[in-house]
Order: sequence, then C-alpha cells, then structure tokens
Amino acid sequence: MCGEPWYLLCDDYYRADNIDSFPRYYPAMLFDVVDATHSKYWVEYQRIDECVDTKPEVTNYSFPEFAQDPYFYGELLEACDENYSKVFNRYKLLMETEAWNGYPTATLIQNLKIAALSDEELHEIHTHCTANREEVEASSRCACFYCQEVFRATEVKDYIVEPSMDYKETALCPRCGADTILGDAAGIPFYKELIEKLHRHYFG
Ligand SMILES: [Zn+2]
Repeated sequence: MCGEPWYLLCDDYYRADNIDSFPRYYPAMLFDVVDATHSKYWVEYQRIDECVDTKPEVTNYSFPEFAQDPYFYGELLEACDENYSKVFNRYKLLMETEAWNGYPTATLIQNLKIAALSDEELHEIHTHCTANREEVEASSRCACFYCQEVFRATEVKDYIVEPSMDYKETALCPRCGADTILGDAAGIPFYKELIEKLHRHYFG
C-alpha cells in the first residue's frame, strides 16, 4: 500500500448481523484526525506483505487476532467461517464502548491550543457548568472536571436551583455530586488534556 497509511473502516453499509458485510480499506488522506487516541485493544505488529511483489514490511495496528493472521481480512471477505466475523464484531463493540466512555487524546496542535488557553477563556468554559440544565438535556455526553468522568447526559438526574440566576438549574454530577458538569452541546471538546487543565485550574 505504498507507504501511505490506510484505515480499515466499517462504513454506512456495514451490518454486524450480516456475515456478508465486511469492513473496507480507505486511504488515510481522505480523513482528518480529530481524536489521536489508539484503542487499548490494538497491538503494533510488523509483517512482510506477501501480496505485494516487493514484499515490503508493513506495520499493522489492530487487535491481536487480526494483526497476527495475514489471512484474517480474506476470511472476513469470503464469509465462510463465521468465527472471523464474530471476533471482528466483538472488538468493534469493545472499541465503540471504549470511545464512548473515555476521553479522546488531543493531537499535538489541539494540545498546544489547550496549553495556551487564558484564564478568561477557561472562565468562559467554566460558565457552562452553571445554570446549564437546558444545555445538559440537549447533550449526548457530559464530562465532570472534578471527578473527570465521562457519562451519558441521561444519567444526570439531580439539579440545584440558582435563585440568583433567574432560578435556572445547575446539573450535579451523577458520579461525585459536584456542580462541575459540561455537556457536549456546549461545543467544548472533551479532550483529556482540557478536562485535566480545568481540574488543575479550579481545584489545583
Ligand atoms: Zn463528577
């Protein structure tokens, strides 16, 4: 594959319940990386590519069964042995759950921007954790920068009324009870580095 990285993706046509469905290779140049985190299920594995005449050594990042078996992808395509698609779909589910519960890691440029945030900009982000019921209810995920957990917005059940702010309501963290929740509807990316910076800034 000529030195360019390729991604193996489950596109919109992929169906985990259909053995004839398979992931497809796409060149990395078609995508921007918004989350540079590697899955904890990936291993790095080098092997000689027997399919190419020059037999280059290629590096694979994938789960161990896929990375170490040069015929794994071919088996997925042929769809004769459902054990291959079972293994593939099991990792797919694990990685989707992992992406949901964890924080993405910022890329270098995003990290530089986070490091350069001023006190005023941090304060602006902080305003989203007060009188934020509407924003939390419009969110899919929330992050708490006190306990630094990520969770579904539907887990948020408790609010306190803010008499000084038109009686709007402030969400309380379902994990630690603190009033330091940001909803993703606020448009603030939940990078691990940003949540850690907020934690250090306000709880030092
Ligand atoms: Zn919390």
